[in-house]
Amino acid sequence: MRDILDIRADFPLLARRVYDKQLVYFDNGATTQKPQCVLDAVREVYTTYNGNVHRGVHAMSDLTSEAYENAREKIRLFVNAPKKEEIIFTSGTTGSINAVAFSFGERYIKSGDEIIISHLEHHANIVPWQMVCERKGALLRVIPVNDDGEIIFEEYLRLLSKKSKLVAVAQASNALGSLLPVKEIINAAHSLNVPVLIDGAQGIQHGNVDLTSFDCDFYAFSGHKIYGPTGIGVLYGKEKWLSEMPPYQGGGDMVDKVTFEKTTYNQLPFKFEAGTMNYAGAIGLARALDYVTSIGRIDIENREKELLNYATKRLSVIKGLKIYGTSAKKIPTISFLLNGIHQYDTGTILDKLGIAVRTGTHCAQPVMARYGIEGTVRASLCFYNTLEEIDILAEGIEKVKKMFL
Ligand code: PMP
Repeated sequence: MRDILDIRADFPLLARRVYDKQLVYFDNGATTQKPQCVLDAVREVYTTYNGNVHRGVHAMSDLTSEAYENAREKIRLFVNAPKKEEIIFTSGTTGSINAVAFSFGERYIKSGDEIIISHLEHHANIVPWQMVCERKGALLRVIPVNDDGEIIFEEYLRLLSKKSKLVAVAQASNALGSLLPVKEIINAAHSLNVPVLIDGAQGIQHGNVDLTSFDCDFYAFSGHKIYGPTGIGVLYGKEKWLSEMPPYQGGGDMVDKVTFEKTTYNQLPFKFEAGTMNYAGAIGLARALDYVTSIGRIDIENREKELLNYATKRLSVIKGLKIYGTSAKKIPTISFLLNGIHQYDTGTILDKLGIAVRTGTHCAQPVMARYGIEGTVRASLCFYNTLEEIDILAEGIEKVKKMFL
């Protein structure tokens, strides 16, 4: 891997100061900072070849359409999906999951069916399924988690049945950091012909994702959590499902022929891309994935393991600090509470020290309730963070304790 200071110089925002202190950015689970090449890619679109995609015969439209479709191919290669038609652009993970919940739900879910999720899901992978269940009279079943924040696999196997129509689980928990055994989850579901959606919002940026080997039926992720722009996301779906599922939005570009009597739909993936898409975002995302590839995905994984181990050791010795999420397999995310100090107080003081952490329920209220807490402080790290920044966090936590205890 390149020298860390050299890598950090790729991200203009990391150099900034806040409250007259050097910013320590530990909220990468919420959104990551962007390397200059991504900012340049988006700027290039608007300054050199902007035109709406798939619409004109003119050069600007052609150039943008070509860049947009090249971006789709780059994304296919990055996740090793079998076909380009299986890559659909959306607004983000939330958009992708809602698309599947609506379209798959319309086509395949009926009264009495069951959808399985886990107890540690983000609201984006809970609420859309609840909405389908309400609409269709189906039932939501929840895989419980143990005290370490791991799903209880035997309970999952017990929940799987002929009534199961879909399993939807996170690759990694945004609230606790636990990595789920997605391969085993998929294999078990497939043995009963049950399709699986993986919420990759917290997975794809931390290691290699090979969808051909995963063999999941749907995979969702957000551009902004993998160093790309906001407002762009991806839904991968197996062609066999996507070709049968109805579109979830109607409008321009998703149609083949429109008359007032009947409309026929465009082929994949365009059937699921109604209206003007965020093509600048898609092109920026492809550049972000190029950037990640240039750093090296194995190197990123190894560096983040080192950061996680160091941070876990450094924080574990702080008296009165309890870490939530103690699975052996984790992304570099540490959720914690200080005994007797509210998470917002901890977060606010750390902020004033220049350290950006997230506080609250992390859009995962059910898993907070599982531990009987109202929220945590979450430090979510990524490869551009440093051991020195972890020391600054540990010292900051000691300062918080001094102020409150
Ligand atoms: N799922 C998980 C596990 C997440 O962490 C997030 C974002 N925090 C989402 C879904 C939703 O992502 P977005 O807001 O980018 O749609």
